[in-house]
Amino acid sequence: MENDEVNKELFRDLVSSFYFIKNDAMDIEVLARAFELRILKATGYSLNFNQCVKCRKKITMSNNIDSITYGPICRECEKLNSIYISSPTYNTLKFLNNFGMDRINRIVVSKTSKLELYKILSFIISQSYTRKPRSLEMFNHLTTFQENSQPLL
Ligand SMILES: [Zn+2]
Repeated sequence: MENDEVNKELFRDLVSSFYFIKNDAMDIEVLARAFELRILKATGYSLNFNQCVKCRKKITMSNNIDSITYGPICRECEKLNSIYISSPTYNTLKFLNNFGMDRINRIVVSKTSKLELYKILSFIISQSYTRKPRSLEMFNHLTTFQENSQPLL
């Protein structure tokens, strides 16, 4: 993809994100993870959840993410140095990665899965970039704000 196209897509996603935040239309924590996946994709670290990273077999489910290539590992392959991921979290990760911003705002994610997603994506991001981009921290501040804020009326 051309750089210009990537930027346009990312900008559109950013506009959607602000729309979701402003209208309280989406869980900010889930939105943050979706945006992280888009930043990864835009910077050349797109994740592929459709095939085993070791044997290239097509898969629909995995409970292990390779800690070096960040791809899923199938049931048969060696799982040394992989990160465990529960089935619901894997499905959510795949969904957030594969679908556009217009589709993902209806997704319901459990607290446990949110924490798992946070840990996995933080790991991938910190390993992929020498320094975690500050902009990604922004969403975490927003979440804290949302939790601590009191209704005005
Ligand atoms: Zn395999």
